[in-house]
Amino acid sequence: TRMSAPSTAPETNCNIDQATLGAFWMPFTANKAFKRSPRILAKAKGMHYWTEDGHKVLDGTAGLWCVNAGHCNERIVSAIQKQAAALDFAPTFNMGHPLAFEYAHRLCQELMPGKGLDQVFFTMCGSTAVDTALKVALAYHKARGEGSRFRLIGRERAYHGVGFGGISVGGMLPNRRAFGPMLPGVDHLRTTYDREHQAFSKGQPEWGAHLAEDLERLVGLHDASTIAAVIVEPVSGSAGVLVPPYGYLKRLREICDAHGILLIFDEVITAFGRLGKGMGAEYFGVIPDMVTCAKGLTNAAVPAGATFVQKHVYDTFMGATPGDGIELFHGYTYSGHPLAMAAGLATLDVYQDEGLFERAAALAPYWEETLHALKGHPHVVDIRNLGLMGAVELVPRAGKPGQRAFQVFTTALHKGVMVRVTGETIALSPPLIVEKGQIDQIVTTLSQALHEVA
Ligand code: PMP
Repeated sequence: TRMSAPSTAPETNCNIDQATLGAFWMPFTANKAFKRSPRILAKAKGMHYWTEDGHKVLDGTAGLWCVNAGHCNERIVSAIQKQAAALDFAPTFNMGHPLAFEYAHRLCQELMPGKGLDQVFFTMCGSTAVDTALKVALAYHKARGEGSRFRLIGRERAYHGVGFGGISVGGMLPNRRAFGPMLPGVDHLRTTYDREHQAFSKGQPEWGAHLAEDLERLVGLHDASTIAAVIVEPVSGSAGVLVPPYGYLKRLREICDAHGILLIFDEVITAFGRLGKGMGAEYFGVIPDMVTCAKGLTNAAVPAGATFVQKHVYDTFMGATPGDGIELFHGYTYSGHPLAMAAGLATLDVYQDEGLFERAAALAPYWEETLHALKGHPHVVDIRNLGLMGAVELVPRAGKPGQRAFQVFTTALHKGVMVRVTGETIALSPPLIVEKGQIDQIVTTLSQALHEVA
């Protein structure tokens, strides 16, 4: 097939003229370099993209960790089409439409039932879900008469989107340094990643649960009475798939409980089957006070995010506002957008009817074994995995940060496999419909790319 013919693949597949290319200021992209040699996707189906000039590319990253049910699923497409024709938009401020209630109800009942995450606030994306969670945390303590709790605790090497709240609790320097002062009253836990003790761990590292005690250090430094919430990704995604050590998240929960601090899991990547369960919280058996999600919420077919809250959080707001006043002055024009809700309901049906979370869980051991076969390849200094997430970390080229990993990405793309690059790490997260043979193709292609770049 054409996809496995790297020598014939062109440098660029772009039919868009330079003048037209100029106007789109692309996110998280080296714009000048990209526009010299663009990579344009024109169509998708199932596990594959097709480039503008017809090359078939296996999607090793589910888009941006988001197309969990595979591309252009017919049931999702048709639900969106029907909804667009029936009710394109309806406000959810003092008005409503059926699908928003229905999807919220089903998510709370079916995604992780019986754990108290009984209310959901719809947002537009992961960044706005994070902003919502952080604001709810601060307002929650105020509503309970504990307004002194204004501090938010994030973690080094964390990604929580790009809102000011998200970059403040986030821990990726390039996302912060250009933007001046961050939110005040934010501190960070140490990262859980330590290559010396964890390199080539399969699944969760044995070493590192004690790093949760770093929260006690921050409590000692700031006093618990000033701390509102801790936010962590159960598995850090964009920082390079950093898997929490056994026992770490459980210990964080215990420390939060001991000090009246809310625990927020940012599950924008880990929810909706990425770890083989509805939520990472279920996978790890640790129940946070709030969960943020997006991406798999609608299979990324329509932008949307959501913030789940424990009943006690919601009830606090309902009880604190006298009479019939508005309980939370927060929301988005597109909260519970009809197209997103229609896409979400169909997505949930597909996950359930096709057993995709169970499928991911069943494939995870094969994924792990196959990926770890890259150990010993040129420049590979670590391999990490959990569920259907994976990462191959490379030693950087002297003085050229990220360059080698980026070359592996472009080389793999020319060979017909799309991977993701973040810093020195190749990150992987195939749609949950991936076949074993496609896992082989992803890893074989990466193997060839690693050798070629060497
Ligand atoms: N939180 C996490 C953990 C994420 O991985 C992401 C996106 N990769 C976000 C927040 C931000 O989501 P969005 O890009 O939809 O705003």
